[in-house]
Amino acid sequence: MNPQHDHRRLGRELDLFDTDPLMGAGLPYWLPDGAVVRHELEEYVRQAERAAGYRHVYSPVLGKRELYEISGHWSHYSDDMFPPMKLGAEEVVLRPSLCPHHALIYRSRSHSYRELPLRMAELGGMYRSELSGVLGGLTRVRSIQLNDAHIFCTLEQAAGEARAALDLIRRAYADLGIRAARYRLSLPGEGGKYVADPELWRRATALLEEVLQGVPYDAVEGEAAFYGPKIDVQITDPAGRESTLSTVQIDFHQPERFDLHYIGADGAKHRPVMVHRSIIGSVERAVAHLVEEHGGAFPAWLAPVQLVVLPVADAQLDRAQEVVRQARARGLRAEAYGPGDGTLGARIRAARLVPYQAVIGEREAEGDEAAVRLRDGRRPGAVAVDGLLRRISDVVGAHGAEL
Ligand SMILES: [Zn+2]
Repeated sequence: MNPQHDHRRLGRELDLFDTDPLMGAGLPYWLPDGAVVRHELEEYVRQAERAAGYRHVYSPVLGKRELYEISGHWSHYSDDMFPPMKLGAEEVVLRPSLCPHHALIYRSRSHSYRELPLRMAELGGMYRSELSGVLGGLTRVRSIQLNDAHIFCTLEQAAGEARAALDLIRRAYADLGIRAARYRLSLPGEGGKYVADPELWRRATALLEEVLQGVPYDAVEGEAAFYGPKIDVQITDPAGRESTLSTVQIDFHQPERFDLHYIGADGAKHRPVMVHRSIIGSVERAVAHLVEEHGGAFPAWLAPVQLVVLPVADAQLDRAQEVVRQARARGLRAEAYGPGDGTLGARIRAARLVPYQAVIGEREAEGDEAAVRLRDGRRPGAVAVDGLLRRISDVVGAHGAEL
């Protein structure tokens, strides 16, 4: 990875995101081009989840303090939580995770074993009270949009669900053009950060080891969630620093705490297992990594502008704008930059991160053609505009990493 590709610098240069001291440190906002990347990423994840049998929910970013006392966050995770807000006689907290809300949603209806595995997904907000000294860019933030899901299933189904989640992660990395640096099996360490129940840890760890069979991984102590071990998919930034992007966890603790159950084939109540999983982790960290991996030259389906149309002279401006209209009608993101924006050479350079450039001179305008330049250096020359737009739509629709 290129050390020049620091996402904080590129984020500002490419007008993707920024912060304002009045909004507060660690609370970035997204500019229109960054919002496009984020929107595409979120839609990609939702689509992948729908195809894999997940159903989406929405839940509030606040919860009563009692909720986190039950989940165990209050006693094991309060250092990372915002202080509670008093509302009359109640105390509410900005949520540090989505799990407790999803456990309550599961509990709100009775469930038969026939409904399992029940896969509940949400791209939802959560909050972490990071110290202001460590905040920066999109990687250390206080407000996080998490790609989260919880699978409520039987013990027999848990390993298969965790394995399927790892497959979703692998496919997403291929479409995003990013790589896992390594897989980590994160185990508990010393100290009171972890729920004390040796049998619970042993069973959950054995299940994850089974899931990781055939996958090279490192087991690391002291990196587990407080309620259970997890598989972490690690990435590295341009400085070589490692962080976790995606996770798969097996949890016996929260189903117990929330007294979750399903009705089995025998008509009796049984306890489900919760598999927590995130394909791309937080949207903030995923976009930071995409910016660093690609240096702003995103795969076509993620690019803020996918096609730039460049008329050679003012006489071709109307034709260029017509091509932009046709591209937008196909759902593509296209812009025209005319001679008013600089010489042709300057406009080509300014659009160097755009996947496709279509230059229209006198000859091309007459023939409904465009001289095509691809970001990767290929120059197919003059092609019919209709065929060009169809081809770009195909690449974008297939989430292709190649142009
Ligand atoms: Zn969870």
